[in-house]
Amino acid sequence: MTAAGLGGSKIPVLIVGAGPVGLALAAELGRLNINCLLVEQGDGSFNHPRASELNARTMEFFRRWGIADKVRAAGTPKGFPNGALFVTNFSGHELARISRPGHAEERDFPNGPERPKRCNQLWFDPILTEYVAGLPSITRRMNCRFESFTQDSDGVTIVLCDETTGHRETVEAEYLVACCGGHSSIPSLIGVILDDDSILDHSVNIFIRAPTLWEQHDKGASSLNFFIDDEGLWGGMSAQDGRELWRLTVHGPRELVARAEADVPACLERMFGGPFDYEVISVVTWTRRSWVADKYSEGRVFLAGDAAHQCSPTGGFGLNTGMGDAMDLAWKLAATLQNWGGKDLLASYDAERRPIGLRNIREATDNYMRYEMPDTRGINDDTEEGSAKRENIGRILRDTRARQFLSEGLAMGYRYDPSPICWPDGSRATPDEITAYVPSARPGGRAPHIEIDSNRSILDVLAKGLSSFSWANTPPARNPLPTPLAGAAFPCVLRLSQIPRLALYMRTAWL
Ligand SMILES: Cc1cc2nc3c(=O)[nH]c(=O)nc-3n(C[C@H](O)[C@H](O)[C@H](O)COP(=O)(O)OP(=O)(O)OC[C@H]3O[C@@H](n4cnc5c(N)ncnc54)[C@H](O)[C@@H]3O)c2cc1C
Repeated sequence: MTAAGLGGSKIPVLIVGAGPVGLALAAELGRLNINCLLVEQGDGSFNHPRASELNARTMEFFRRWGIADKVRAAGTPKGFPNGALFVTNFSGHELARISRPGHAEERDFPNGPERPKRCNQLWFDPILTEYVAGLPSITRRMNCRFESFTQDSDGVTIVLCDETTGHRETVEAEYLVACCGGHSSIPSLIGVILDDDSILDHSVNIFIRAPTLWEQHDKGASSLNFFIDDEGLWGGMSAQDGRELWRLTVHGPRELVARAEADVPACLERMFGGPFDYEVISVVTWTRRSWVADKYSEGRVFLAGDAAHQCSPTGGFGLNTGMGDAMDLAWKLAATLQNWGGKDLLASYDAERRPIGLRNIREATDNYMRYEMPDTRGINDDTEEGSAKRENIGRILRDTRARQFLSEGLAMGYRYDPSPICWPDGSRATPDEITAYVPSARPGGRAPHIEIDSNRSILDVLAKGLSSFSWANTPPARNPLPTPLAGAAFPCVLRLSQIPRLALYMRTAWL
């Protein structure tokens, strides 16, 4: 029995899956000097775009690791129109346009040091991989498939298979974390059921190259484009690099049907309203689900990311929710392995993250359900009835769809109120809203952003370790923010007259 690259000793944490969530968990555990083995069945190549919408909280995690600049510079470029456009087709009629601030713009985001960014996994996964590869406590093994495990009170015994040689080995770990996505066998091995009731539809992604597509029609460039014809809203097209790469998602039926190759050109022409120049790069059929595991852990085995919850991409919440799982679990694993976390700390992972999974996945499903709309037959007709129909649908879209694209409250306003390790301070909860984020110093929430000095947030200081807060009721002029806080050791005590209420042990930097 070997410990797969960790010198023969028991592995503290074995992570299955080097998708974005497994990489994020490795990044944070690596930052905390915890030895981990990260196994990935693939070879690390990635050729089909999935997640693009990185919310501000995810960008703050990237900032903690010092890679936010790289992510900001990748993906859809600064200045590319970031809104949502609804049309009958690109050659037909515009129905509605929902604008939102551009991504990657400089300092015009009051609620945090990082604003949301559109950067597809095609670009940020390699950035994250490069960061993880530089962490001395992380060992990565590609082409290495998890097969099975058994556990007892002392640890987990895991069988791995080298995909290139077929060689099997058994390794021992203190903890096993499943970050292996929606097809993982680990949930079922801990008794979690992923049944067909959770299926919303089977959709098809068509990834194409079409340089400056927006110059071939008169609707202008937009990051997100949706198409509504006689059959209702049938698909959406998103810009990937803001130059030539696009992904069309075609909504399918609940039942899985074989995809005919011939459908692809027909779908693309339906989207454009006629022929146009393109090259198909790849086509993928995938299952859209609304599902949250009924438990996130069993003994020493934990689920995170799509292994714990799966949602419709309507809103871009799947990966971002998984990033939050990874950050919450990482410090708890580290604290337990370093013997300062207490015996029940790991149990709070489920108590904190599962309610957030339910909240976010419910919103994604509601966004998907809002695709249902009144009869759209004749919506592209150049008639009075067609025009009235377009006006009505446009109004419905503007009234009901904005929250899908403007979800700052969902991204940053989540709180761990029911957590057994959060100490209430008696203050009244701020509303948990999807669109608006209301900064609050209430325990269990993200600490409010305060700019310390140019491009430095109080979150940068808190990110270094656990922090306890206290502050005096002195006016700001007599009680300035202490600036030389970077590198402050645990516990870091800040005197902040700007924050209205005392909160004890805000562990918010770790959320
Ligand atoms: C069309 C589309 C658009 C999306 N857009 C967004 C968006 O804008 N924003 C957002 O937040 N989310 C979005 N999502 C969701 C997002 O892609 C997922 O939530 C995210 O990829 C989940 O990450 P993960 O690391 O948990 O799983 P995955 O990305 O699925 O990674 C799992 C990894 O585990 C590996 N693995 C699996 N089994 C094993 C095994 N037995 N042994 C070893 N390795 C294994 C796999 O090879 C894979 O690399 C979108 C999804 C789709 C389909």
